[in-house]
Amino acid sequence: MKVTLDWLGCATFRLTIDETVVFLDAYMDRVPSAPPVGLTTAEVERADFVLVGHSHFDHIAGAEVIAKNTGARIIGSTESCRVMRDQAVPESQLLPAQGGERYRLSENATVRVFPSLHSCIWTRAAGRADGVVTGDIGLCEDERAAVRASMPGGGGPSADPELARQMQQHLATSVGSRHTGGALAYLIETPIGSIFYHDTSGCWTSVLAQLRPTVAILAAAGRGNIDGEPIQGTLAQFVGIEAKLLQPKTIVLGHHDNWMPPSTRDSGTDTGPIREELRHIVPAASLIEPGYLEGTVILGA
Ligand SMILES: [Zn+2]
Repeated sequence: MKVTLDWLGCATFRLTIDETVVFLDAYMDRVPSAPPVGLTTAEVERADFVLVGHSHFDHIAGAEVIAKNTGARIIGSTESCRVMRDQAVPESQLLPAQGGERYRLSENATVRVFPSLHSCIWTRAAGRADGVVTGDIGLCEDERAAVRASMPGGGGPSADPELARQMQQHLATSVGSRHTGGALAYLIETPIGSIFYHDTSGCWTSVLAQLRPTVAILAAAGRGNIDGEPIQGTLAQFVGIEAKLLQPKTIVLGHHDNWMPPSTRDSGTDTGPIREELRHIVPAASLIEPGYLEGTVILGA
């Protein structure tokens, strides 16, 4: 038995579990200025499942193309399923989840769904993974909305106007929801090991503490969300907290590339501080940093 992982940019991955192809998110059709990942959704010829972490466009967009072209079934929140239904994906291909479900992926692989959290997009994120951000604790949603409204918009004054125009067009045409739909985490289980996946930097610590995946795919972008509050510290520390709870043998990062210039600042997340943090927090774990479409064997041989 063998499980291979391909990174497809942002938080999108393709898991190949023997003969079964499982996409984790589906966002590959990006703005022209983003580095190409080597595969478009229209080129996907084989897929059995798409597991959608949440309903924002940079995660769900493209799942409708894959589903229609391959017959793949989509597992996601009721909001993710609604978005797909609106795109005329047949009801028979939609498997709604909110955490607590278990779906069979193949003869020897299943996936369990867990509730998760989105990163704190309503508050400031540090420019670098080792940038400390504090404050914004204990706020109600209307207060969080006020924080968000006070922040400058994406792109920034120095952004290239053509890139900004492309981004705006992309935002206007990409399939997705302005709601998260409730972020989900997935644990794919096989006889030779398990893979934890989430696609945004948030977690319920009590959920993660129960899991012992062999491989953890951890989102590394924005301001981490721990049990509903923004991390008081750095993104690197947030990833370290998750790794300490999960104790995986192998860690893979997601959402850290330059997925939507110019809104992705500094060409994405600098993984150096995260690498350093993980070396201290989980010294026995290995961090692998594959490029796009490298086909890394993560379980078996
Ligand atoms: Zn999101």
